[in-house]
Amino acid sequence: MWYETFFRAQLADLKRDGNYRYFAELERIAGRFPRAFHHGIGREVTVWCSNDYLGMGQHPAVITAMRDAVEKHGAGAGGTRNISGTSPLHVELERELAALHGKEAALLFTSGYMSNWATIGTLAAKMPGCVVLSDAANHASMIEGMRHSRAPKHVFAHNDPDDLDRVLSSLPPDAPKIVAFESVYSMDGDVAPLSALCDVAEKHKAMTYLDEVHGVGLYGAQGGGISDRDGVSDRLTVIEGTLAKGYGVVGGYIAGSAALCDFVRSFASGFIFSSALPPAIAAAALASVRHLRQSGEERTQHRERVATLRRRLDEEGLPHLRNPSHIVPLIVGDPVRCREISEQLLSRHGVYVQPINYPTVPRGTERLRLTATPLHSAADIDHLVSALSEAWSDFSLARAA
Ligand code: PLP
Repeated sequence: MWYETFFRAQLADLKRDGNYRYFAELERIAGRFPRAFHHGIGREVTVWCSNDYLGMGQHPAVITAMRDAVEKHGAGAGGTRNISGTSPLHVELERELAALHGKEAALLFTSGYMSNWATIGTLAAKMPGCVVLSDAANHASMIEGMRHSRAPKHVFAHNDPDDLDRVLSSLPPDAPKIVAFESVYSMDGDVAPLSALCDVAEKHKAMTYLDEVHGVGLYGAQGGGISDRDGVSDRLTVIEGTLAKGYGVVGGYIAGSAALCDFVRSFASGFIFSSALPPAIAAAALASVRHLRQSGEERTQHRERVATLRRRLDEEGLPHLRNPSHIVPLIVGDPVRCREISEQLLSRHGVYVQPINYPTVPRGTERLRLTATPLHSAADIDHLVSALSEAWSDFSLARAA
């Protein structure tokens, strides 16, 4: 059939360019993270690229909460939030997330992607004359929400409050405006100047929308993210987060004023027409958020592990991007070589680091993105660094001075 020919040709192009995605079939082993069984090579490996940044996906409190809730309430939610799918666990989790960010309310979605897409899409579409200001490095889920809204969009230079000021100054003062940005950018690991961005947005009476997906659980006294750490939560109109990374489960949410959350709840198709998260997921996420609100231990250990990894990479001259976050990218700059290095790490050393290629990062900046967790030991770090050092020599890659 003509369409099969089309699909195959497109896939062949991806393979030729080195951008075809091969999934590693990994069996996570509860209690043994960061170890997992890799079915492709038939052995146990150490995972070095997980977004379960704190290992909360296997925290005993989280597992117990999920197991108890499944036994009590069964597997699924049974419907959309509006039609039989709202449980006390959803309500409790929303209250907890609102409290975490110091907001009046929160609203759950089935993923962080959906929370961005639905919220930005709905706000920008429904507010007459709304204009969106988007950081140049924003995540696909926010960009798709903007596109879906059909509101005019202006891109400002990445993490640049002066450029945001310039763009906002060129717009009609009375038009409703949403300024959308992230706290920690997931591929370069750089961190937004939240306070300075809020200053500019406030000057122009614009709403602010912050994606805290790579910050929640990890930063701030209660794990509320960079906005919590920097003391600016109250200056942000919307804080969006995920339950899938620092919290180790799945789902997304927004936190904001009661009226804003009620508005999104009432008008966002991505919320209204989708089944609710299973109660057991809400229970597990609730346990994770609560734990990380009162315990700073995981955050302290995490910071120490990341610092150790960076120091060990420096000792071997392995060039990693300097950034103030927990994300440690090693730029390779070529998709085929990046995959070959990843394959060597896996087959020779049992080290699993997924190569990151276009379209996740721009072409020519293909990379290995390392994420150390509190559960990686000093021996794990030594093993990784020596495997990387060998690959750097084998592939004649440049070392840092
Ligand atoms: N926002 C950012 C910046 C992300 O990196 C991601 C996912 O990687 C998302 C949103 C989507 O979150 P989720 O994985 O919960 O759908």
